[in-house]
Amino acid sequence: MDQHESSISPSVASRYWEATQARDRNADGTFILGVRSTQIYCRPSCPARRPLRKNVVFFRTGEEAEKQGFRPCLRCRPNEVSGAVALVEKAVKQLADVNEDALRLGALAEKLETTQGTLRRAFRQVTGLAPRELAEALRIKKFKAMLRAGSKITDALYETGYGSSSRVYERSNAQLGMTPGTYQKGGKGMKIGYTVAKSPLGKVLVAATARGVSAVYLGDAEGKLVAELREEYPRAEIAPAADADQKWVKEIVQRIEGKQPAMELPLDLQATAFQRRVWQELQRIPRGATRTYAQVARSLGRPKAVRAVARACATNPVSIVVPCHRVIRQDGELAGYRWGLSRKEKLLATERAANK
Ligand SMILES: [Zn+2]
Repeated sequence: MDQHESSISPSVASRYWEATQARDRNADGTFILGVRSTQIYCRPSCPARRPLRKNVVFFRTGEEAEKQGFRPCLRCRPNEVSGAVALVEKAVKQLADVNEDALRLGALAEKLETTQGTLRRAFRQVTGLAPRELAEALRIKKFKAMLRAGSKITDALYETGYGSSSRVYERSNAQLGMTPGTYQKGGKGMKIGYTVAKSPLGKVLVAATARGVSAVYLGDAEGKLVAELREEYPRAEIAPAADADQKWVKEIVQRIEGKQPAMELPLDLQATAFQRRVWQELQRIPRGATRTYAQVARSLGRPKAVRAVARACATNPVSIVVPCHRVIRQDGELAGYRWGLSRKEKLLATERAANK
């Protein structure tokens, strides 16, 4: 019998194992691995010899591993936060306690016995934000309250929608084809072409950049769908699409009809790190199956983030491609759907039937 319990789902564990084999530095901070044969736990990038897969158990944090009897590796020191994280944590504590709006970086650096440059780099690295942006986040009551209640900065950041390029939670998004940090709020710099097609669920609007699909909306009236698109990306250049996007439109209509995906659909979205993680997880729900919000939260290793998961589902801009319709409530009720409950119901029925 296995005496070590991990809350990490098998599909996530297999990605972690890949990162472990690659000694992927970017994965440091997202998980740690315990080695059963030695009772030691390591960062993914640890230079030590790779253990056998069967001896490895993954955890989100060192605390979890230590609860189950693992000790930190002396080579990669997985229990020590990096200098940058420690510095930002100290800085944020200072900032959270101060009630003034203006951030004087020089004074802050002096207080922390460091330089402005080091502080600025540390903020960027840990939170993905400039000190000024972080100060703005700090003005949000909820953010401050979370920090006072003992949340980690990075958790507080993504709960409040900041930290879109947070290095701490950032992982490779090759699968989703997302390009974090490319776009500013409102889609500034995006050139979006849209097409409205017919589907069994009414009109479907597919909007895309040269890199990938940016929006998939369902509705009855074309004008309303286009208006929603402009609302979602108020600062993007938006126009009817040229022919190039038609194969993506066809693929999406076929998925609405219940057909198995025939091609990978690249996505080009603006999203927070947490939204990306949720949407990636949703793409792993097979056609014909459903998950509850709580199950999705658990498979992300964040069992308490049920409401945040529900919010990420509700704000999914690419319905169908990111199948948020496959997430339902614990009691089996369908919960909401941005494009109408009857569409959600119909989609799920179609997918179940197609799977038979
Ligand atoms: Zn190690």
